[in-house]
Amino acid sequence: MNIRRKLYSWIYPRRCPGCDRLLEPDEKVLCRCCDELVVRTGEVVCVQCGKPLRDRGQDLCPDCKRGHRFTAGRALFVYSGPMKEAMYRFKYENRRCFGDNFAVEAKGRYASLMKIWGISCIVPIPMYPGKQKKRGYNQAMVLAQRFGEGFNLPVKDLLERVEDTPPMKGLSPGTRRRNMKKAFHMKESAVQFNKILLVDDIFTTGATMDAAAEVLISHGVQAVYALYVCVGEGK
Ligand SMILES: [Zn+2]
Ligand SMILES: [Zn+2]
Repeated sequence: MNIRRKLYSWIYPRRCPGCDRLLEPDEKVLCRCCDELVVRTGEVVCVQCGKPLRDRGQDLCPDCKRGHRFTAGRALFVYSGPMKEAMYRFKYENRRCFGDNFAVEAKGRYASLMKIWGISCIVPIPMYPGKQKKRGYNQAMVLAQRFGEGFNLPVKDLLERVEDTPPMKGLSPGTRRRNMKKAFHMKESAVQFNKILLVDDIFTTGATMDAAAEVLISHGVQAVYALYVCVGEGK
């Protein structure tokens, strides 16, 4: 941690993403109360997207049976309970500081997986410039930077969003894919990176990840993996 960030954490002690209360020194990610309420993705998950599976006999969730452009992805939490509030504050209420909490969780659970995957660089899912200007920040970039510090990996802003896609809540997977098709462009060359980790806040059907992975792969990246804070509940 550099001095500026150390000073920042001293002036602004860490808050609980679930309820926004200040954390006690021994609470690292969530307060005790929210920690009991959140659902962490466990052992029985879809091998591709990391969504919890109800049926232990299956490898893939229904959404992933169609296949994806990224090799594999993992989540920290299921999008339920206090994590819904947490994601809202993180995205819309300027609680960028939650990125630190999520990075602690990510480092504790996935640092060795990053080595197994052989990740050489972290890339955030970009936001449409107009939208980012209005909001003041891109939450995926905040995550990428914090994860980069946690995993000790470089962060590159390789992609740009060239089309503002409409909100996708409630849309079918096919419509989501069509909407995302031309959403991303490459900003700079990625040839020096073999394996890239894409980072975003929430994963639902994977249409966004697929579109971003497609652009990276078509520009010579060997394999694309993904890490997100929340994943939708499994079917
Ligand atoms: Zn809490
Ligand atoms: Zn899946």
